[in-house]
Amino acid sequence: MSGALLTDVSPPAAEQPTEAEWAAAVSAITRLPADGRVLLICHVNPDGDALGSMLGFGLGLRQLGVRHLQATFPGRPEVPEPLQAMPGLDLLVPATAADPEPDLVICFDVAAVSRLGDLADRLDRAGAALVLDHHASNTRFGGIHLVDPEAAATSVVVEKLLVRLGVPLDAGIAECLYIALATDTGSFRFDMTTPAVHEMAARLLATGISPGQISRRIFDTRPFGAVRLYGDVLGRTQLEPSAAGGVGLVWTYATLADLARHGQRPYTLEPLIDSVRCTAEADVSCVLKQVTEAEWAVSMRSKGATDVSAVAVALGGGGHRLAAGFTGRGTASEIVDAIRAELARAGRPGPAGEGTPLADLQARE
Ligand code: AMP
Ligand code: MN
Ligand code: MN
Repeated sequence: MSGALLTDVSPPAAEQPTEAEWAAAVSAITRLPADGRVLLICHVNPDGDALGSMLGFGLGLRQLGVRHLQATFPGRPEVPEPLQAMPGLDLLVPATAADPEPDLVICFDVAAVSRLGDLADRLDRAGAALVLDHHASNTRFGGIHLVDPEAAATSVVVEKLLVRLGVPLDAGIAECLYIALATDTGSFRFDMTTPAVHEMAARLLATGISPGQISRRIFDTRPFGAVRLYGDVLGRTQLEPSAAGGVGLVWTYATLADLARHGQRPYTLEPLIDSVRCTAEADVSCVLKQVTEAEWAVSMRSKGATDVSAVAVALGGGGHRLAAGFTGRGTASEIVDAIRAELARAGRPGPAGEGTPLADLQARE
């Protein structure tokens, strides 16, 4: 049975943070010297969870009285337009202005060092490095880890740490954490939308923030040029029903020329995967987004039959079982060839759902 093969290439299931890890994280913050310098970093090309978790925690640290506080991310210091009204943005500095030797560095939503770009050196140069994340593929690259692979977003981990630090939620923190939670749960639609997620959302909404306004701004507003661009990109979508071991692959790509032709910034490409992944005839969906001449940011999704994080990890990236990504090098068709090959190699988990007694029996065959 090929299910066993799929398990072999998956990263080992990570554990929840231990009490000792929570205590170490709390004391890394409470034992900062009075003028201690803290640098917050989130992953390159930040999404709502990366920025929201980082800025929400930054506002919490500010409440605690941390004065020397910077937030940053690698690469161009460009915040996607829909996220440009987030509370706490005044904490942001360009990567080039980030403290070279902070007392404490805290990473948010970063699964691996490669997602820190030129800021990776801060891990060695900081007095201590704390990692807050929820990727099962997290490589544990810091000193203290709060990595909860069952958390729907990094902001879930952030809220728990704020509670342990005695920082109450205010509307600013809540808006940041809400944007993070809504982003990573697909506005409370994905499988990880547990009762605990809704309970957290209730605590955030109780601060008076406006979910309708936030959702319209973050998810439902794009320039007209982006809508025309989507027409071009979706028009070249390919369906391969026999790929991925027969469960089907659907994919498309967006080039720098597409962006230039419609006068759009790269962030406008992010919603495309949602239009592609709705294809009924394919379990696996991919969007390749050109970053430079021979470099592509690849988004992958599965409806449930495929562990796309295993495929992404094999190709140098990471993510979650049903949503993952990697940086591809070469032409779009070379990258799709590599994805097809990995999907074929990964095999299929079989007809039973993962974790069921039948699937376990099949995996032992
Ligand atoms: P995206 O398709 O960009 O929404 O990303 C889906 C998931 O894959 C998120 O959890 C990302 O953090 C993760 N991911 C995307 N690209 C990479 C990458 N190059 N390396 C590691 N993880 C990634
Ligand atoms: Mn993210
Ligand atoms: Mn996340």
